[in-house]
Amino acid sequence: MPSQPIPEDQVPAWHALPADAVSRQLDVEAERGLAADEAAARLARFGPNRLPAVAGRSAWRRFLSQFNNVLLYVLLAAGAVTATMGHWVDAGVIFGVVVINAVIGHIQEGRAEAALDAIRQLLSLKAIVLRDGQRVELDAEQLVPGDVVVLQSGDKVPADLRLIACRSLRIDEAAITGESAPVDKQTGVVDAACALADRSSMAYSGTLVTYGLGRGVVVGSGAATEIGRISSLLHAVKPLTTPLLRQMARFSASLTWAILAVSVLVFGVGVLWRGYGWGDMFVAVVGLAVAAIPEGLPAIMTITLAIGVRRMAQRQAIIRHLPAVEALGSVSVICTDKTGTLTRNEMMVCHLATAAREWAVSGSGYAPDGGLRENGTVLAPESLPELALIGRAAVLCNDARLRNEAGRWLLEGDPTEGALLTLAMKLGLDPAIEREARPRIDVIPFESEYRFMATLHHGHDGDGLLFVKGAPEKLLALCRLARQGEVDVPLDLAYWQACCDRLAARGERLLALAAKPVADGRRQLGFGDVEQGLSLLAIVGMSDPPRAEAIASVRQCHEAGIDVKMITGDHAATALAIGAELGLYVSSGALTGQALDALPAADWPAAVARTGVFARVSPEHKLRLVEALQAQGRVVAMTGDGVNDAPALKRANVGVAMGMKGTEAAKEAAQMVLADDNFASITHAVEEGRAVYDNLKKAFIQILPTNIAEACLILFPVLFGIALPITPVQILWVNMICAVTLSLSLAFEPAEAGVMRRPPRSPREPLLSPLLVWRTAFVSALLTAGSLAVHQWLDGQGESELVARTAAVNTLVVAEAFYLFNCRYLVDPVLSWRGLTGNRMVLLAVGVLVLQQLAFTYLPVMNTLFGTAPLSLAHWWPIIGFGLLTLLVIEVEKRVIRGRARR
Ligand code: ADP
Ligand code: MG
Repeated sequence: MPSQPIPEDQVPAWHALPADAVSRQLDVEAERGLAADEAAARLARFGPNRLPAVAGRSAWRRFLSQFNNVLLYVLLAAGAVTATMGHWVDAGVIFGVVVINAVIGHIQEGRAEAALDAIRQLLSLKAIVLRDGQRVELDAEQLVPGDVVVLQSGDKVPADLRLIACRSLRIDEAAITGESAPVDKQTGVVDAACALADRSSMAYSGTLVTYGLGRGVVVGSGAATEIGRISSLLHAVKPLTTPLLRQMARFSASLTWAILAVSVLVFGVGVLWRGYGWGDMFVAVVGLAVAAIPEGLPAIMTITLAIGVRRMAQRQAIIRHLPAVEALGSVSVICTDKTGTLTRNEMMVCHLATAAREWAVSGSGYAPDGGLRENGTVLAPESLPELALIGRAAVLCNDARLRNEAGRWLLEGDPTEGALLTLAMKLGLDPAIEREARPRIDVIPFESEYRFMATLHHGHDGDGLLFVKGAPEKLLALCRLARQGEVDVPLDLAYWQACCDRLAARGERLLALAAKPVADGRRQLGFGDVEQGLSLLAIVGMSDPPRAEAIASVRQCHEAGIDVKMITGDHAATALAIGAELGLYVSSGALTGQALDALPAADWPAAVARTGVFARVSPEHKLRLVEALQAQGRVVAMTGDGVNDAPALKRANVGVAMGMKGTEAAKEAAQMVLADDNFASITHAVEEGRAVYDNLKKAFIQILPTNIAEACLILFPVLFGIALPITPVQILWVNMICAVTLSLSLAFEPAEAGVMRRPPRSPREPLLSPLLVWRTAFVSALLTAGSLAVHQWLDGQGESELVARTAAVNTLVVAEAFYLFNCRYLVDPVLSWRGLTGNRMVLLAVGVLVLQQLAFTYLPVMNTLFGTAPLSLAHWWPIIGFGLLTLLVIEVEKRVIRGRARR
């Protein structure tokens, strides 16, 4: 292992100490955790639990790296040669422009990095901690040595922990050991000398809990964790790049070499055929190389991407891996969870069915006002003895907590469970008293895979009690008995199934409650315990209405050619009812997990393609669904929240994790995290993804024509033996100062009005469509012709060479500025108020450009440096006229293209 700031001998071998000794040494009661004031004192002493800020590349190294490209080598060499030839001014300008360009690149890159860093900060880690005997959720940064942390599957371990309780705890330690198979944990001591990977009594910061439950005492926080000691990990900075950007960078690089080759050729032609002097030709050829290489392009693309990522974050979609931005733009199917993503996840039990009958439950939200209604009046719960047992099951087989804060009922935990607490209160129970009277001994936590939760409790009369709650299909299969009044009767399957169908058809989420007595003295709960003797108590139906914005988003997706598929663990009828409300495709019914299992692999793709709702599916099905869709060439976004969703999230083109209810494991596997868990945010991200892609294209067609035109402005005169209308230093000015000013503003371009009304882009479609190639060529020709014409015209008028060139350069730059407006929309017209003023950055850029060109033309020092001369007003009219003409011509061209597209 690399550097170790804390010497090994000062770190106690916590793994080799018994659990109680650890608690004693860290002065904490394992059952109560630290007291709040003690925790605050330790926080002051040990500092917050975070790793020291990643020391990125230092500022000056980032600055130097700006010089690390072929073009700048060419320029520096050219500057050196120019200087040795005694052209001091030209050499100075070349060096000056190189430095200015590097400074601009440096600042922009810094801003892009800062924007992405700020977004990473949004994903802070939370931890469940015991403080003063209460479980509280804290920012992981607040943890101090001695804190007792509760772990469950899907959590990221927030600090180094000595485990003091474990239940089938398994942890994936790849983050620190590189070993990706999860390891089993336990609480006993291990040999002090054993390696990190074998310390099974420890849980290390940064690793992921893949299964089970556990508790541990924090023994190291912040930089004093194992991961804090592995310094190399801290420096793994992710590059700002994506497949498309890499492709573009390769394109630029090969273009550069091609241009250098052409330059050498032109040099030969000029000297040998046209008889120019060596020196003049050298200067011209350097100009050609500088002109033709689109050196600003890679930087503009990176910035466009960074701005897109920031915009997505503002709309609640946090990008973890940059390539997802590109994939988002071509997503053609979104597979989404139902509960909490499409629905509000504010659950309320609205029906309760027992073996005898069914009641409606009144009230709203989590407030315990209301109760069972019978013929319009609220029933007194004491009148029916079985209701007390139902309420008890609802409270005890439950991990959620409700707090009343100034009259508002706030939930901590799962909304499904919160609704059950409210139900129990409506049945006249006090959750705190129930929990006190029948303490929990053991638990099998809920997992989407098996869809139930079971708890074991001390009873009153010496006997223990087992409660189970879960999906009705599951419990109906487990129970042979049902509770009626005070006795158990044989379960009437048909009756209960009819209950379920009735409730689910209304879109209610179903949950069954069951109980059985067990001999006291049982301390452990296993899957075998729920398989016998269970008696079904009740089925509850919960309402969970769709989010209003989800309905609108689904419609928007359909307009945008994107399929939306609901994937839920809920009952098929529930899912179909909600799906219909949302406007999903429900006519071919729902495919259940069971049906999927029975389906031959060959039939998957077709069946999956025509189904809009998948119900009672478990996480493994999600992976196969993604694969089936991808097999048909679809680009898939898939949401997930649980630890078992990780494989599907990784496999999907865009894995989307839930920021609020999602586990850390899911977030880690996902490329994007939804800060608000809302389906609408996925749609927004797709819209922004499409906009980013458009903006990359816009930057491209905005920048390239300038380069091509400049190259032509050198090439033609050399080949045809006329005077150069633009000099190499002037080309430097246009390329590195003007072009950067203009094209940067397009990175801020908001999404075009029609982005969500066109079909998704095929992932195989090249960035430059034939249309854009044509546009680039067309504009290049226009710019070349305009500048040459202005130059020839002034030459013919007998103006000095300096004036003619100044006018030619201004023609090029002004036309480019007008063309910038054309570029705002790829094919839509821009001649409207919104089209011309909709992007303030464009107006700002044009304003800055005007000042730059005035300085370039009229400042004496600039005249000296760049070989320019002041123009008279009469010179400006044709220049501005030509710019306006360019704007109009391109608008006409767009119109023709739109007309052809319609035909
Ligand atoms: P989804 O998230 O798609 O709604 P889940 O996997 O969360 O699906 O839930 C599937 C089913 O499992 C639910 O319909 C319900 O019957 C049951 N269920 C959900 N949450 C719990 C829980 N906390 N305890 C027991 N059963 C639950
Ligand atoms: Mg769920």
